[in-house]
Amino acid sequence: MRTMAEAVLGRVIGHVATLGEQPAGSPAQDGSELCRRLREGPPEAGTELGELLAPLFEEWIPCSFNTPGPGYLAFIPGGGLFPAALGDFVAAAVNRYTGVWRLAPALVQLEANVLDWFRQWLQMPPTTRGLLTSGGSLATFSAIVTARERLLGSRLRDGVMYCSTQAHHSIAKAARLAGILADRQRTIEADGRFRLCPGELEAAIRRDRAAGLRPFLVVSSAGTVTTGAIDPLDVVAEICAREGLWHHVDGAYGGFFFLCPELRPALRGLSRADSVVLDPHKGLFLPYGTGALLVRDGEALRQAHAASAGYLPALPEGEMYDPSQYGPELSRPYRGLGVWLPLKLFGAARFRAALSEKRELALLAAERLAAVPGIEIVAPPELSLFAFQLGRPGASPQERNAATRELIDRVVARGRIMLSGAMVGQKFLGRVCVLSFRTRRDRVEQGLEDLREETAEIVGRPGPLS
Ligand SMILES: *Cc1c(COP(=O)(O)O)cnc(C)c1O
Repeated sequence: MRTMAEAVLGRVIGHVATLGEQPAGSPAQDGSELCRRLREGPPEAGTELGELLAPLFEEWIPCSFNTPGPGYLAFIPGGGLFPAALGDFVAAAVNRYTGVWRLAPALVQLEANVLDWFRQWLQMPPTTRGLLTSGGSLATFSAIVTARERLLGSRLRDGVMYCSTQAHHSIAKAARLAGILADRQRTIEADGRFRLCPGELEAAIRRDRAAGLRPFLVVSSAGTVTTGAIDPLDVVAEICAREGLWHHVDGAYGGFFFLCPELRPALRGLSRADSVVLDPHKGLFLPYGTGALLVRDGEALRQAHAASAGYLPALPEGEMYDPSQYGPELSRPYRGLGVWLPLKLFGAARFRAALSEKRELALLAAERLAAVPGIEIVAPPELSLFAFQLGRPGASPQERNAATRELIDRVVARGRIMLSGAMVGQKFLGRVCVLSFRTRRDRVEQGLEDLREETAEIVGRPGPLS
């Protein structure tokens, strides 16, 4: 065991320690050729560990986006704290059964502790219960199932839900899986700052009621993936309270910024939500595979998922938390340790400081970029994400879109930062999202240099912009 573990550890440390020197962007090859070569039948005989690790670390891992690296400002960055990986290693190696409380009570309690820390950070009431999931998508699924069970019961087909045009696509997908079909999902217009329009929401609710349908759920975003917009959570909470609807908040990107006192005003209303999705594998810098759901009425979450069988041990007494009663899984990975270990090891203060730092870096980047001739900041940072476009007086919308795409491609090709873009309405926007704990000021400055130089090249060319 020791020899194998040391071989793995040596490779991992060598890899992680050089993340900053590895290209920040996508790999040069698209991977199809490599994948064709990799196909093979089931192995009948074994292979030496070293022979397996060599191509893994030298060829297959390098053929990927450097998502945990300091230059990764694309999509919503992850991070992958090393102690979380150690927690996951211990969890897998001891392989205890944490789906059912009785089989590993103390381990399950650590997971319950983590969920209760999240609850306290979000200032939700003690009635709140939650669940650690594989990610935001599955947490959203359980939230929608809970709202559906609580408010629609068996009359599922009449139920209507609402979210803005800027909502993450995982919401429509989770809703479909939860039995809310596309003709009962309404998308509400966003305002000039890409936030859900409460007036439009109210009008849509009125229309559906008049048609004999049953509005039951509004999903708002605490930070959209496209521009980082925060919907008016407080106003939506008020509408939901008045109309008797469930208010779910998608905080997969932005929820953990509530830890930072200076950002709480921007997220006002989050604490009033009926349910909130958080993504520790984004905002807490953990490895992919950990999402979280909090439901204010914990009993509603339990009732939507509770199940028993004659061959299972008796359920615990009321105060004990049993994951299988609060979520869709029975056998499951022990996710709690990978969250608990880094939080105990570093303390919340360091996470708060890191989140504040990422926000400061986004503010700095947006301010500097705004001063570059040709760049327009279309959505300034509300948290740590902003969106921009490249243009020139007289340039058509198509030219601006193409020029913005070109700028991103050219900057990414330089290998120091990775950016991504998004179609928002008819506009293609470049995005910068600072959320990897490894992104520090030096890398942001380098990225700004690349953006400034490439912008000057594109804008300075004679003829049309693109
Ligand atoms: C990432 C993300 C999701 C989906 O979460 P997964 O963990 O990828 O399943 C949903 N909403 C927002 C805003 C996100 O950033």
